[in-house]
Amino acid sequence: MKAAAGHRARTESPVKFEFRHARTVNKTPAMKSTLFEKIIAREIPADLVYEDDLVAAFRDVKPQAPTHLLIVPKKPIPRVAEAAPADQALLGHLLLKAAAVAAQAGLKEGGYRLVINNGPHGGESVPHLHCHILGGRAMTWPPG
Ligand code: AMP
Repeated sequence: MKAAAGHRARTESPVKFEFRHARTVNKTPAMKSTLFEKIIAREIPADLVYEDDLVAAFRDVKPQAPTHLLIVPKKPIPRVAEAAPADQALLGHLLLKAAAVAAQAGLKEGGYRLVINNGPHGGESVPHLHCHILGGRAMTWPPG
């Protein structure tokens, strides 16, 4: 299957990627700079399907499958490569809740795919750790 047209991160050089995300990495704690922080803070709209103290899940605005949800930690960890040992419980919670949200969306029987894109070659476009939950159709392998 072809990669989605216009997915900037798939063709971006690692140097450009670092430059584009420098603002996020260098922000002060008071600055809410990621799109997903703004969704969590209700500063921009989203179709939320689950929320607790640690994570939030909402529909992807550009779905790549009949069901395409994102689940994110409320703590703005930029990407999994920058998670710390202290984030271990949070990452476990994120995965357990991904499975619960997938089940709530009716995906348990048919199965689903969880995807975490990391960095420019991984196809990451939003520098706030998120796990894609994709289902409602059979997925292909290898991924594009
Ligand atoms: P990634 O490419 O792995 O960083 O995934 C980022 C995802 O965020 C993409 O699938 C986008 O379609 C999705 N996205 C971007 N803006 C929004 C938004 N405002 N609400 C929901 N999903 C979004």
